[in-house]
Amino acid sequence: MTDVYVEINRSNMALNARNIVAKYPEYDTFIGIVKGDAYGHGYGIVNALYENGVRYFGVSSMEEAAAFRKENTEAPLLCLEPVAIDRLEEAADLNLTLAIPDMTYLDALLDNGCRHPFKLHIQVDSGFNRLGFKDKNEIKNAADKIAASPYVLEGVYQHYATAGIFDPYFDAQTKKFRELTSLLELSKIPLVHLGSGIALMAHPKPDIATATRMGLMMYGYNISPDSYGSGVKDRLRSARDDYYRKKYHLSEVIRDVELELKPAMTMKCRILQLKDVHKGEHIGYGAAYTPDEDIRIAVLPVGYNNGIGHQNHGRVVEINGKLCPVVGEIGMNMMAVKVDKDTTLNDEVTLLGGHITLGMFSRFSGLGLAEVMLGVGKNNPRYYID
Ligand SMILES: *Cc1c(COP(=O)(O)O)cnc(C)c1O
Repeated sequence: MTDVYVEINRSNMALNARNIVAKYPEYDTFIGIVKGDAYGHGYGIVNALYENGVRYFGVSSMEEAAAFRKENTEAPLLCLEPVAIDRLEEAADLNLTLAIPDMTYLDALLDNGCRHPFKLHIQVDSGFNRLGFKDKNEIKNAADKIAASPYVLEGVYQHYATAGIFDPYFDAQTKKFRELTSLLELSKIPLVHLGSGIALMAHPKPDIATATRMGLMMYGYNISPDSYGSGVKDRLRSARDDYYRKKYHLSEVIRDVELELKPAMTMKCRILQLKDVHKGEHIGYGAAYTPDEDIRIAVLPVGYNNGIGHQNHGRVVEINGKLCPVVGEIGMNMMAVKVDKDTTLNDEVTLLGGHITLGMFSRFSGLGLAEVMLGVGKNNPRYYID
């Protein structure tokens, strides 16, 4: 085995897909978002999803689409970012569904010579202010132009800028989407999809939606917001939420969703050297760590080159079921952890997985959840297990 490795458990991906699809029968189509090399998991996971009910996928570039197609040639695949017009033939070969962000793009598409009968999804900007149409007459106009073209209007969608846990902006975005699509016959468009995993888990399905897009949760993380406890702080938070909910007529937030999801990604490494360090000696760059007692350390072949970030807010790793704190600075390819006398060179070190959750990892490094998965998955040798 390599010194450092990332294991991707495809059975867990399959289980996640099955459980999500079973949990939300009100949605007809689940669009699995596999941008960023499938959140660092690699496209080796797509068939585990496809065979278990996730029947549509989304990527963000032609390069990702090409990598996806090496694994699966038949699943419908939406490119969330507009494909460059001079690469449409390539997109046709990859059998991509195209996102249409504005009239300039649609006109360029209609002017080109590519005769492939592309399926199209109109992107609506309901308040994110990134890609998408912002005017309802333009959206109607775009739908009419598509109807008169060789292309097929298969979908219309938006992306939420906020999670709606207690912000009025979430509902405002749903309302805006309704307004912007009010001149379309939405019931004639097969795929109407709003939002991402958190919108799916924390909110009831909007009546107009037929499909949903999800990322993070599919990789094994239950992102449903927790309900409040009975402590003073939680009671205050709860009261604040109730206040906002009444004041702004906010929609329901679903908490504590029971849904079994298993993380598919685990990161492990071996120990390079065990060393005794005496009280008062210094460890690592900047001689920044000085133990106040004699300790034993294990030197590990991982650093910020392996996607763990150079920041260390109390990072621990797991060895033989015990949590061992990082001592000293995290370097590009190495770091040290404090271990006990029982640790041997043959012991395996877990950096992500086991007791080390994605949430913990993210707090250790000050990186976002998806950012952790990408950094870990893309920067280490990766193996699949079934
Ligand atoms: C990344 C992305 C998603 C998935 O988001 P998660 O929060 O990981 O569920 C959905 N839709 C779009 C447009 C995205 O870019």
